[in-house]
Amino acid sequence: MPRPIIAIDGPSGSGKSSTSRGVAERLGLSYVDTGAMYRAMTWWMLAHGVDIDDPRAVAARCHEPVIELRVDPIAPGVSVDGDDVSADIRAAEVADAVSRVAAVPEVRARLVASQRAMVDDAGAAGRGVVMEGRDIGTVVLPRADLKIYLTADADARAQRRASEDSERSGTGSITAAQANLQARDALDSTRAVSPLQQASDAIAIDGTHLTLDEVIDAVIDALHRDRG
Ligand code: C5P
Repeated sequence: MPRPIIAIDGPSGSGKSSTSRGVAERLGLSYVDTGAMYRAMTWWMLAHGVDIDDPRAVAARCHEPVIELRVDPIAPGVSVDGDDVSADIRAAEVADAVSRVAAVPEVRARLVASQRAMVDDAGAAGRGVVMEGRDIGTVVLPRADLKIYLTADADARAQRRASEDSERSGTGSITAAQANLQARDALDSTRAVSPLQQASDAIAIDGTHLTLDEVIDAVIDALHRDRG
């Protein structure tokens, strides 16, 4: 049986990253965090003084950064031009700017091409992939073996994001997390190119009242069910 390709989409803070990492770890698959790639692109734009409110300026420079993603679910991370920026891309400045950069069609075209290339490389090495994002089941990997759309209610998502922020930086406010998530969800769901939406053949999982292990189990059960 060929190694599976699993697409996991959903809004910010729905638990996609922990779930995707957990599934990849349990099944021995590569883990591709596409949000980290959009964040790395945004970090580079900010570091180089590009006006991220000017889509033409962003489009003109989006081929410059060399973005490398580490796909081991136990030690994921991202480098830009050889520097590890895994911590920097979680900063509030990046979180506030990323949806504007991600709405630029040239940015998406470039990153989608490298996301598909990563799946091809993994396949050539005999490895399956869990890829998480917003448009994986709809645009990047429409032929994925399994598509999951993971949601959770707004309070649970803000709570989760605030405690992640607090673990990372020592401070994490639910109100700030709520504001950032709402703003990003609004931009991500309404942009012209590849908006966040559930693929027609995706299985929806609401993780609000489930533990992480229960969500991981639900994804793996769905894979086994789908593949008979
Ligand atoms: O998943 P994460 O919250 O790190 O994603 C950061 C941002 O990157 C999202 O809010 C969205 O604007 C963008 N993104 C996207 N398409 C993806 C993954 C992320 O537009 N496949």
